[in-house]
Amino acid sequence: MFRPTLALLLAVLCRFSVSAVAQSAVSDNVAAPATDRYPPIPSIPAIGVRNGRYLDVPAASRGPAIDPAKGYRIQDLGDGLYMVTDNIYQSMFLVYDRGVAVIDAPPEYASKLPQAIAEVTRNPITHVIYSHSHIDHIGGTKSLAGHPIIIAQRETLRLLQRAADPNRPLPTVTFADHYTLHVGSKTLELSYHGDAHEPGNIFIYAPAQRVLMVVDMIFPGWMPWRRFALAHDLPGYFAQVEEIRKLDWQTLVGGHVARTGTHADVEVQSEFMQDVKQAASAALGSTKPGEGMDPRDQVNPWAVFDNFIDRVATRCVDALTPKWSARLAAFDVYVWDQCYAMEQSLRID
Ligand SMILES: [Zn+2]
Repeated sequence: MFRPTLALLLAVLCRFSVSAVAQSAVSDNVAAPATDRYPPIPSIPAIGVRNGRYLDVPAASRGPAIDPAKGYRIQDLGDGLYMVTDNIYQSMFLVYDRGVAVIDAPPEYASKLPQAIAEVTRNPITHVIYSHSHIDHIGGTKSLAGHPIIIAQRETLRLLQRAADPNRPLPTVTFADHYTLHVGSKTLELSYHGDAHEPGNIFIYAPAQRVLMVVDMIFPGWMPWRRFALAHDLPGYFAQVEEIRKLDWQTLVGGHVARTGTHADVEVQSEFMQDVKQAASAALGSTKPGEGMDPRDQVNPWAVFDNFIDRVATRCVDALTPKWSARLAAFDVYVWDQCYAMEQSLRID
């Protein structure tokens, strides 16, 4: 059985406590002798290290304000298609002559979706499309009235069968690669491009409106959520962002943040991702496992590797900070997560 020594524990604790001390000038951590300390991490605190204020959100990353009395806003995307958002989540609905097709029902505001739809039509909800299986995007489906036809990619059905969540009713229509929904004179083209964020996560394209909805992939003006939005397959995620970049569309609905996206937003995210990949790759090439470590720690391969990964991530963060810290909202919040995810993917995928 593995029993870490007190010295090892102190050394590990201390690597992270050093910067916390430097920032707050107050420490309640147990201090190891200064000679046992490894080089401190840079000014943006690592995962698990308490921060003070975060960096400001750039104006370009914000969206139109939400009426606090309603808790959501509707954005007209043209020809019967609307986005609904609380400026954190985004979903859509498409109005046709006899009904409404809803695309995603985030539990954060799904109970208000009927009210939002009633602002533009009295037609009933006849269809629900699931972008993917994750509860934070479709877990409010049960709160929609009636018995709509539910459409999803078949991997989403598999994952929802496993989840057995009464708040996420099973799809009644599934497809493998492509599905075209014709309702009245309106059309939505659903397509599956493989695993990236999650198996079953689909592209939803409205050709008349030139709107593309792909959830949890592109974050206009913002750092992707931690670990590239918890991408299930990181090389797949990188490839799919490039697919989105090359496709012809006018407005992107990404499922998150306060505004819709443009091609310029995808260019920026793609450039950032290439920079993370380059920075993590360079750090992996220039960092030696065990270098500078106390000989007592060198006999502990887990510790040697932990220290190696920390130094790789530190170099990665340092390389990215000058160019990106003021360019993407929440850079400081998740840059460590992105570097850790990237170095891991580069080593094992
Ligand atoms: Zn998701």
